[in-house]
Amino acid sequence: MTATQNSIEQSFECGICHDYLTEVRETPCCHQLFCFTCIQQWLNQGGSCPQCKSTSLTENTLLKNVVLQRIVDNIELDCPYVLAGCSAKVPRCDLENHKQLCPYSTAKLADKQQQKLQKSIALLNQYTETAIPVSDNDLYDLAKALHEQYAYAEARKCFGKMKTKNSSLEIVILQAHIERDDGKYTDALRLYDQAYDMTTSPSQRIELLLAKK
Ligand SMILES: [Zn+2]
Ligand SMILES: [Zn+2]
Ligand SMILES: [Zn+2]
Repeated sequence: MTATQNSIEQSFECGICHDYLTEVRETPCCHQLFCFTCIQQWLNQGGSCPQCKSTSLTENTLLKNVVLQRIVDNIELDCPYVLAGCSAKVPRCDLENHKQLCPYSTAKLADKQQQKLQKSIALLNQYTETAIPVSDNDLYDLAKALHEQYAYAEARKCFGKMKTKNSSLEIVILQAHIERDDGKYTDALRLYDQAYDMTTSPSQRIELLLAKK
């Protein structure tokens, strides 16, 4: 997380890594601010002061700046998963902690998707492996959910038990979408044609012609 080029925020920036300061250290020679690890590494490599080139600067002469550190720690930042939907503003010192717990983190979202898919597959097994009667509506909803989760083979299995598999326009279209998205274009075209013959309105026909592409 790099500090933005706003002038106030720039004063909270380390002169070496240009990120927000961590364990602030101030140089006694020119009062520049650096992260402790950044300036330590610099000096260990035999560098003079990065700002004023003073050669008397050593790790032991660096000053702490507790007040500035407190300010930097409390700067509120966007959660790094803001694009995934997290709107939390997090004090910088809590950021690492928040990243672990954020429900929008990549790992948490992948987990959630995985759980959703497992649930759908469990439902599919229940529908297909037991004698309990299932409505075509429930099978359709499940096929749609599996399609959205890219589980094409599983989605296809839902149609086996459907009574209106070939007589409901909605169901034929869903089958066509699944074949199309799974790259089975010949099957998809056959199903789109089948659906086209079932259409009763021009708007349905246009929708189908667009879906074929
Ligand atoms: Zn730094
Ligand atoms: Zn200096
Ligand atoms: Zn978050």
